[in-house]
Amino acid sequence: MEKTTNLLIIGAGPYGLATAAYARHLGVDHVVVGMPMDFWKANMPKGMYLRSASDWHLDPLGLHTIEKFLEIQGLTAGDIEPLSLQFYLAYAQWFQEQKQISPLPVLVQRLDWVDGNDGRFRAAMANGETISAQHVVIAVGFKYFKHLPPELIERLPAGRYMHTCDLVDFRHFGREALPDLRRASKCIRMDRLAQRRR
Ligand SMILES: Cc1cc2nc3c(=O)[nH]c(=O)nc-3n(C[C@H](O)[C@H](O)[C@H](O)COP(=O)(O)OP(=O)(O)OC[C@H]3O[C@@H](n4cnc5c(N)ncnc54)[C@H](O)[C@@H]3O)c2cc1C
Repeated sequence: MEKTTNLLIIGAGPYGLATAAYARHLGVDHVVVGMPMDFWKANMPKGMYLRSASDWHLDPLGLHTIEKFLEIQGLTAGDIEPLSLQFYLAYAQWFQEQKQISPLPVLVQRLDWVDGNDGRFRAAMANGETISAQHVVIAVGFKYFKHLPPELIERLPAGRYMHTCDLVDFRHFGREALPDLRRASKCIRMDRLAQRRR
């Protein structure tokens, strides 16, 4: 079965959801595919705090902001910052509801440009369906682009390193791992988590 749309948005993370909200506002016919916020649900350490603050929201129109989400709960940024992962996921869920964004929870397996009089993209989905679209926005995040520099990992013992995309559980770290964590550039929040586990 083939669906047809003007704009196919591949990805239902922050960028895909924000693009969908804007497309809806402009009245652009669109379809969003992907698992809503799945990178945040599966690839971030439980109990993590965000680097970004309440002013980093999803709404290109500035209406359904984190500050608005707080306001309707009678809270202020000061009550909640630093933002927890759990809070941010609740905000993203609320944002989807407000903007009536319902992504199709299926992955694109292949994307082709089909030449012809009305050249279009054709996306083959994992469930066997296809979507034909005039325009495509790809917002699949950086999970596919993680890089472990060979010149670094060849110096490390096997099984003793992990990319931060995959590091979600700190329980297997012994105390001796913590000083190394502190030195790593993006691990300030992770270090806080690790300290809580001591
Ligand atoms: C530990 C850690 C902490 C971070 N902290 C912060 C922070 O505090 N603040 C911040 O701004 N950023 C933070 N980031 C970065 C943040 O994760 C990314 O900037 C953000 O998730 C990118 O959003 P995105 O929508 O591009 O992609 P993602 O959130 O990765 O979403 C990708 C979407 O694409 C979908 N998708 C993937 N493949 C397909 C496919 N083949 N077909 C259809 N859909 C597909 C997925 O299902 C998902 O819905 C952090 C990252 C890590 C690893």
